[in-house]
Amino acid sequence: MGWRERCSGRQERPAPPPDWSLFLVQILAMTIATVNPATGRTLRTFQPLTDAELEQRVAAAASAATLWRGTPLAERVAVVRRAGRLLNDRQDEYGRLMAEEMGKTVGAGRAEAAKCAVTCAYYADNGPKFLTPEQVEEGGEGEEWQGEVRFQPLGVVLAVMPWNFPFWQVIRFTAPALVAGNVALLKHASNVPQCALALETLMRDAGAPEGVFQALLIGSDRVAGLLDDPRIAAATLTGSEPAGRAIGEAAGRNIKKTVLELGGSDAFVVLPSADIAQAAATAVKARVVNAGQSCIAAKRFIIHNEVYEEFSTAFVAGMAALKVGDPMDESTDVGPLATERILDDLDRQVKASVAAGARVLTGGGRLDGPGNFYAPTVLADVPEDAPAYAEELFGPVATLLRARDIDHAIDIANATTFGLGASAWTTDAAEADRCADELEAGSVFINAMVASDPRYPFGGIRNSGHGRELSVYGMREFVNVKTVRRRL
Ligand code: NAP
Repeated sequence: MGWRERCSGRQERPAPPPDWSLFLVQILAMTIATVNPATGRTLRTFQPLTDAELEQRVAAAASAATLWRGTPLAERVAVVRRAGRLLNDRQDEYGRLMAEEMGKTVGAGRAEAAKCAVTCAYYADNGPKFLTPEQVEEGGEGEEWQGEVRFQPLGVVLAVMPWNFPFWQVIRFTAPALVAGNVALLKHASNVPQCALALETLMRDAGAPEGVFQALLIGSDRVAGLLDDPRIAAATLTGSEPAGRAIGEAAGRNIKKTVLELGGSDAFVVLPSADIAQAAATAVKARVVNAGQSCIAAKRFIIHNEVYEEFSTAFVAGMAALKVGDPMDESTDVGPLATERILDDLDRQVKASVAAGARVLTGGGRLDGPGNFYAPTVLADVPEDAPAYAEELFGPVATLLRARDIDHAIDIANATTFGLGASAWTTDAAEADRCADELEAGSVFINAMVASDPRYPFGGIRNSGHGRELSVYGMREFVNVKTVRRRL
């Protein structure tokens, strides 16, 4: 007789045994910790903020928002400019921190900090111009109106950020937001808490007053609650599609502005007139940037029949020659994947694609030993129903697809639910123009890999999200674009 029956005397069904493995997975998913992806060792764990601590920070942000919007623009600019200088000075420290927390190679981490510095300088230089009220010429006889458009801050913006570019994603939002007079609450990914805290220290050292930039060590389960809080005006997310849907829903319920920068399955189209050797060498870089964990990494390589063999031979040789290993080693090309979950997901996608008929031209599996290492992999003959055809592969795995002609290439490139970036290779001006026009993505690069640049808008269409970051467009996302008309 089970204990329920003994206690109540009734015939109840025994309670199912607790699923401890599920419980453990849930606990681990909520853990905020630094786990070195190269060794699998947990280096530090952090307690999430209590409700009272979170409330204190939201209240501090709300008070800071009032003060910061009234702070002279020149002072706001000075803080962002100083942050840029500090990012430059601390490249080495931040590069090592990123390597330790999410496996980026140290050289790439230094470069990321340097790019953040350039972006801070860009908004310090150009922000005031982007925020200058625009006069509207009304024209016409007997003009009796004067009009302008002003750009005013929205207030507290919640930034939910991913681990893959742990400094860049945060700075590309923060620099324009702070110059515009907004304040930021950062909920960073749970596997990069030290990067989150380093960013908070950076902004404090740059002179940001209390409450203007705060990192919240909390799990994703507390984001929707924050969006219900009337003190938070808007949110920006860089992350996965499911996170985009969750944040979009919560923000929509509260009628709050969002920018969503989500995933991508970028096409890399190679046409016969291209320099094939250069295209193949760039394709390798475009696929394995950040160990393949970049939203704008090229993922589907769509090669014209006439140059397929030549491209494929050079590309596979390039992928096979990459050095995979310790991200702290300056000579490493490809470090570990950031988490074991990412490694497992990628491995599952590759195995399912191979089971569906895809052919492995190089790589094809995880590497033995500790750490989340995956062999640079090229898959060919990938059927349309295989995960490698339709899903985002977040790791160093490329899908080679064959196109009959340019129409077919563009059709394949557009046959995706995503629309972030695309790269097309051709020396024919008319073809280049067609690709620029017809590839459905937030950016198209011709004879180059897709890359972000503070001078140009960045973002996607379809399931890659909405809104733009960087350039004047990014700065205008979190401002009240206010019409002011005056009768003279
Ligand atoms: P993720 O799981 O969506 O995590 C990103 C952030 O969202 C983390 O801070 C995460 O917190 C939080 N989050 C996750 N689920 C949430 C939910 N239901 N509600 C609220 N917050 C939630 O993304 P990831 O797998 O770490 O990052 C990879 C994805 O980001 C890829 O799809 C990649 O393409 C995309 N990405 C896009 C861009 C772009 O600019 N378009 C740039 C980089 C990456 P926890 O860590 O606590 O779960």
